[in-house]
Amino acid sequence: MTSLPSAALPTTESSDAAAPTITFAELGLPEPLARAVADLGFEIPSAIQAEAIPALLAGRDITGVAQTGTGKTAAFGLPLLAAVDPELREVQALVLTPTRELAMQVAEAIETFAKHLPGIEVIAVYGGSPFLPQQRALARGAQIVVGTPGRVIDHLERRTLRPDNVRFLVLDEADEMLRMGFAEDVDKIFNTTPTDRQVALFSATMPPAIRRVAGQHLNNPVEVAVSRQSSTVTSVNQTYAVVPYRHKAGALARVLAVSDADAAIVFVRTRGAAEEVGSALIERGISAAYISGDVAQGEREKIVERLRSGALNVLVATDVAARGLDVDRIGLVVNFDAPSEPEAYVHRIGRTGRAGRSGEALTFVTPSEQHRLRAIERTTRQKLEEISIPSPADVSAHRVQKLLRDVATRAEAGRLDLYRTAVTAYLAENPSVDPIELASVVAALAVGDTGPAPRPTHGDDLDDALSRAHLSDRGDRNERSARPSSDGPRRATHRTEGGLRYRIAVGHTHGAQAGAIVGALTNEGGLTGKDLGKIDIFPSFSLVEIPAGLSPEAFDRIGRARVAGRPLRIRVDEGPGPRTGQGASRPTGAHRPEGRDRAESRDRRPRHTVGR
Ligand code: ADP
Ligand code: MG
Repeated sequence: MTSLPSAALPTTESSDAAAPTITFAELGLPEPLARAVADLGFEIPSAIQAEAIPALLAGRDITGVAQTGTGKTAAFGLPLLAAVDPELREVQALVLTPTRELAMQVAEAIETFAKHLPGIEVIAVYGGSPFLPQQRALARGAQIVVGTPGRVIDHLERRTLRPDNVRFLVLDEADEMLRMGFAEDVDKIFNTTPTDRQVALFSATMPPAIRRVAGQHLNNPVEVAVSRQSSTVTSVNQTYAVVPYRHKAGALARVLAVSDADAAIVFVRTRGAAEEVGSALIERGISAAYISGDVAQGEREKIVERLRSGALNVLVATDVAARGLDVDRIGLVVNFDAPSEPEAYVHRIGRTGRAGRSGEALTFVTPSEQHRLRAIERTTRQKLEEISIPSPADVSAHRVQKLLRDVATRAEAGRLDLYRTAVTAYLAENPSVDPIELASVVAALAVGDTGPAPRPTHGDDLDDALSRAHLSDRGDRNERSARPSSDGPRRATHRTEGGLRYRIAVGHTHGAQAGAIVGALTNEGGLTGKDLGKIDIFPSFSLVEIPAGLSPEAFDRIGRARVAGRPLRIRVDEGPGPRTGQGASRPTGAHRPEGRDRAESRDRRPRHTVGR
């Protein structure tokens, strides 16, 4: 494989020379951490990881300049875990993040990295949630605290968090933190923790204020900088199409039929989908194969080799299966299922436009998924252009062009007497037939166009559906998007500003905490913090926004999960009492959150989106 470590993430290729392909195993991580990383499917360290991890393992301070999506969490999270002593039940590592969402997300990621390290406890502390449970977790001996500066200071001042054993301090998204007015708190935290602690400071930019912090509090830091790789993205022409769920396979077949790309990769979300879509293509006579994460390595290599040699033109794959895949012939990436994370998008489209060629990336979104486009555009800093799915006429036109391109070659090959004789005889018998007319009919037959047939009028036609889907503007995801008939099997229909809202059967009176709810949803539902919207905890139940909705499997698993000893019994929120109007976009505020924690001043003020 010629791709570099950073290719999996939108990082730099400018570090090519500096970073020959290195594996996680070679970074010197303790075995339980290397295993956790392998479990996550990370194969190759990103550029920032390849540089930061060895430096931090060697005990150095570092400053890391890197954009979102470059893999910073593992860059500091793994060495941090290597530095923590599980036997010592004291806070040993402190990670500061600008927002509560980020705190939750980072804590969750560190927990995943620590899955083979028994005895490690990670807690997230942030404003806007009750103090006491955080205090209890600290008293129980959590070694790793991830929090917003404001709430961390509060704990330090109340002595519920003792800084004496802190040996690892991380500032994540430091520029954002200062922008939010946390400079003083950050200084204070630096001054309260032991001076021999190790520091990792990460920031997307390095303004003077951050340089000052680094100059003042870091000890001869290693400076690591990774610039966002734009060339992988800019050499790819990015488009999207709105396609109702059940018409995706038909739309895909048409897209492939008119594509000029030598080969294509089609990304799907699950192993089941890989098989289904792959089979649908093969049935339509397309040279396709499918792989998912559980395909054996040998088998995967064989398929990739066929793709490389041209024996295979379309590969249907899950994200995991396609990771690191490097085949120059791939001129088209189709995101059959829209990626759930913008980072995955960047990784997917990086499979095309390789080796200096240009590539095409087309993302299918169902009418209800259009909000995902914005997250993608924010991450790639590029607009996706909407295209329409080719019509049957487009497909035929494309095929006949190809047919005519082959005419000269075929003529040259000779041995046409048989056909010439037959055609001459036909024209002699049918003197009224014009030779051009005859050639046209033959061409239509050759491309499989049997002429107009009475069209079904039940409205289930791909073209009808596409034109309907098209009417729904991007950004407007309230009405049409909720219509099950145009949006596949999903039945959940209660939408809010933030997306789908679910009700779970635990609340304050059961002792449910946001952290535990987040934990259950992410562990059981396979979600990440980014998939979750607002969580409102009421006395006897809670409401959770999950903008993209849940798959039936995730729904089942979460329904059986427990928080505070009670099953979640998740269901789509129907709202209180009878619905009024369309019921589609009633604001969450319709539920009166009694006894809701008053939002803590600082942390909630400017609401920032997660992962920015
Ligand atoms: P950042 O903090 O720089 O924005 P994250 O640490 O949140 O980035 O990582 C972005 C995404 O990339 C996450 O989904 C993470 O699981 C994934 N990721 C991180 N490192 C790797 C890797 N080496 N290989 C594959 N995926 C990775
Ligand atoms: Mg991050």
